[in-house]
Amino acid sequence: MRNEMTLEFLSISANESLARVSVASFISQLNPTMEELTDIKTVVSEAVTNAIIHGYEEKNDEKIVLTCAIDGEEIELIIKDHGSGIDNIDLAKEPLYTSKPEWERSGMGFTIMENFMDQVDITSEPGVGTTIRMTK
Ligand code: ATP
Ligand code: MG
Repeated sequence: MRNEMTLEFLSISANESLARVSVASFISQLNPTMEELTDIKTVVSEAVTNAIIHGYEEKNDEKIVLTCAIDGEEIELIIKDHGSGIDNIDLAKEPLYTSKPEWERSGMGFTIMENFMDQVDITSEPGVGTTIRMTK
C-alpha cells in the first residue's frame, strides 16, 4: 500500500526534532527495526539541518517542506528549501567538505545520507533552492 505525508515548517532549529519524530512516527507502520528507524531519523536530521543553516543561513522565517512516502517496503523522503542553493554539488557531496569550517561543521552530512539510504538525488540552483530526494 502507498501512503504519503507532507510537513511544512519554518526554518527554526527546534523544528529539526519535529521533522525527525514526525517521519519516525509515520514510517512506524512499516514495523522498522530500531536500526532502520535511527538511520531514517539521522538522514532527516542532516537534510533539515542543512536547509536551516546553509540554505537559509539561519534566517528563521523561511519555509521547509518535507514529504515522506511509503510504497510497500520502500521509503521516499523529499526535503525542499528555497534558500541559497548549492554552487557545486559534486564538491558539496565530498566527504569532509564544508563551506562552514568556522562553524565547526564536519562536512559529513551528504556522506551520511548516501551511506544510510539507497539513493540520494540533489537538485539545486543558486538563488533558487535545494531539493534532496532519498529512497530506501
Ligand atoms: P555537517 O553536515 O557534517 O555538519 P556540512 O553541513 O557542511 O557539515 P554536508 O551536510 O555534507 O556538510 O553539506 C556539504 C555542503 O553542502 C555544506 O557545507 C553547504 O555548503 C552545502 N549545502 C548542503 N545542503 C545545503 C542546502 N540545503 N542549501 C545550500 N547549501 C547546502
Ligand atoms: Mg550538513
